Amino acid sequence: MSNLDPHLHVRPVRAFADNYIWLIEAPKRPGLLVAVDPGDAAPVLAELARSGASLAAILLTHHHPDHIGGVPELLRHAALRGPNAGALPVIGPEDARITTLTRAVHDAERCELPDLGLSFETLAVPGHTVSHIAFYGHGALFCGDTLFSAGCGRMFEGNPTQMNASLTKLRNLPPDTRVYCGHEYTAANLRFALAVEPANDAALDYQGEVERLRAAGEPSLPSTVGLETRVNPFLRCDQAGVAKSAEIHAGKRLAGPAEVFGTLRAWKDGFR
Ligand SMILES: [Zn+2]
Repeated sequence: MSNLDPHLHVRPVRAFADNYIWLIEAPKRPGLLVAVDPGDAAPVLAELARSGASLAAILLTHHHPDHIGGVPELLRHAALRGPNAGALPVIGPEDARITTLTRAVHDAERCELPDLGLSFETLAVPGHTVSHIAFYGHGALFCGDTLFSAGCGRMFEGNPTQMNASLTKLRNLPPDTRVYCGHEYTAANLRFALAVEPANDAALDYQGEVERLRAAGEPSLPSTVGLETRVNPFLRCDQAGVAKSAEIHAGKRLAGPAEVFGTLRAWKDGFR
């Protein structure tokens, strides 16, 4: 049975060179939007003006400036004009580096926005940063910089065991879950994925599709969990072919998926 909510509509707003700020339409309140990771206020305000919608809440996955930088200006704007004048909820992980938070959510906690008809499960996914979270609900996953299509975030604050466990948690979500990532990195990620698994037919097919989408100026996202399990080497560390490739790169035997993950992550960091 599908876990997709046909009433959930999400649209991308581009920011900076390759960020996506996702705008979720409130199923119960047409005209109200929830912004995920608004690193820049200007493109969000432009979209609100264009569509005549208002912002009703902000969800944050982690503390990096390209994900939270637009929050203060959006709050100023909401205080002047929005429906929750002066009280726009800003929901994200417990982290002193996020000073605009009004509500912290923790692993396995439900993040409910009942007035808007939205409800997400909070998933702790440490690795890119220690306090990184993802929001999962309505058949959609908002995963910030933890999981990218055909890749994953850099491991700035966590260790390979931790980040591999975080990605495994996301891999175990229903296959039709739509994956809304924080950046458009898919084409470059696929070049690396195919260096790891040159004969992965699913990745080769996907590369053609992503090239067509990007040439047409379309986002490659959202992806799905099912597609990622077929094309994303970072979700395939327990596959013999991926482990073999990592061992050849490392020049030694690797003890298990977490070591394979650590090797792939370091390999990708230097990959051009
Ligand atoms: Zn980040």
